[in-house]
Amino acid sequence: MRVFTATLGTETNSFAPMPTGLADFQGPGYDPATTATENLHAFAQVCRALRERAAETGWTVIEGKLAFAGPSGTTVRAAYEALRDQLLADLTAALPVDMVLLQIHGAMIADGYPDAEGDLLARVRAIVGPGVFLGAELDPHCHLSPLKVASTDLLVLFKEYPHTDIYARAKDLVRLSEAAVAGRVKPVMRVRDLGMVTVIHTSREPARALIDRLSAMEGHDGVLSISIAHGFPWGDSPDLGTRVLVVTDGDATKADALCQTIGDEIYARRAAFAPAYPGPDDAITRGLASNHLAVVLADSADNPGGGAAGDSTFILERLLARKVDNAVLGPLWDPVAVGFCMQAGVGATLELRVGGKVSRFSGHPLDVRLEVLALKKNATQDGLSGTTAPLGDVAVVKIEGVTVVLNTYRTQGFGTNLFTQFGIDLSATKLIVVKSSQHFHAKFGPIASEVIYVETPGVMPANFTGLPFKRARTTIWPFARGA
Ligand SMILES: [Zn+2]
Repeated sequence: MRVFTATLGTETNSFAPMPTGLADFQGPGYDPATTATENLHAFAQVCRALRERAAETGWTVIEGKLAFAGPSGTTVRAAYEALRDQLLADLTAALPVDMVLLQIHGAMIADGYPDAEGDLLARVRAIVGPGVFLGAELDPHCHLSPLKVASTDLLVLFKEYPHTDIYARAKDLVRLSEAAVAGRVKPVMRVRDLGMVTVIHTSREPARALIDRLSAMEGHDGVLSISIAHGFPWGDSPDLGTRVLVVTDGDATKADALCQTIGDEIYARRAAFAPAYPGPDDAITRGLASNHLAVVLADSADNPGGGAAGDSTFILERLLARKVDNAVLGPLWDPVAVGFCMQAGVGATLELRVGGKVSRFSGHPLDVRLEVLALKKNATQDGLSGTTAPLGDVAVVKIEGVTVVLNTYRTQGFGTNLFTQFGIDLSATKLIVVKSSQHFHAKFGPIASEVIYVETPGVMPANFTGLPFKRARTTIWPFARGA
């Protein structure tokens, strides 16, 4: 068996001010063709699963590049075309192959390509022809377009949000693809468009029980795989929306019927999947009123994992104005401030302008007096699905009663060691503010006395219906409330 694999993807926030260029795709993990099996990029898990299967079976796995950009604004056309053409050239050079398994995100929008990864998959299909098995693993925050489905034999999405199952789903993809190439199963994909879009947290009900039930159905009665494409509400795609994807063993009627019943259930509960999002002051008041320490406030709208800058000051400004002490906040992306702190050294006191630099969605920069508590070059934190995620250089600073983790690599907060590696005792901290929409929950959920999701004026507001969409169908719920 000869298998080609590669990664190309990002999650495009159409309302984010920062463009996504070539260099953004060539960050950590750009070339996964190494012998390392640990600490692979979160979007190199298909590659990892294939390496492991190859070691067991003697398959030949040809690895193309891993090109994954952290979520940001629209991808520059030349960047997408260059990376796409590189992938296609690598594939062509690898021919003949029996199987192509890619890891994509599914929500990339490039200039001139509203469905960039659909374009990619269609071109891969055109190169390999209908006789070569083509599968892919996607993020559930994808735009599950008809082109993506029509171009492939099998698509498997992560089930969990936070995405704790990237590797597990990659193994599903490899296992089912192998069975299909061997002729043991005939995957038939069916999709149902639910006419809605929402945020679906699988860390709590009602999604928790739904996902557990769907998982238990797999492997029985001809059901091979069930995925829920949540959709990405900040991507202005004509394919924006929540969809159900059912894969059965040769039984299209059964797949359609399951799409119908699962879709009906999700649509009926559509208003219950997303949490409430109080504003900064209400969230701070609620957190301070708690009888417990370790109340986590999630700055969802400034989540770099959804395309935001990660430098907004809306919550920090309110913490300082209200003279809150015993709070921590991070990561706050400010390479300039980190540079000054690095120059000054631990123990220094500086008058600096912090945060609020990228655009109006970042709020105002704050003029503060800060003390440098800790410094670290090339710091990391626990990442998604057992991976390690870069933070860049870090300066931990004290601004009045708030300890802030400033960093140089734009990323969300995933792991509690974002704070604890610098000696911060989260169990003794009153308010823990983390820039993340939901991935933080995998590690912070277990130590939090309470989690409060906060609405701020960032580029991925919970109330997304007021954003200036041009391509998305604003006839679906909740744009059209009666839909
Ligand atoms: Zn996602």
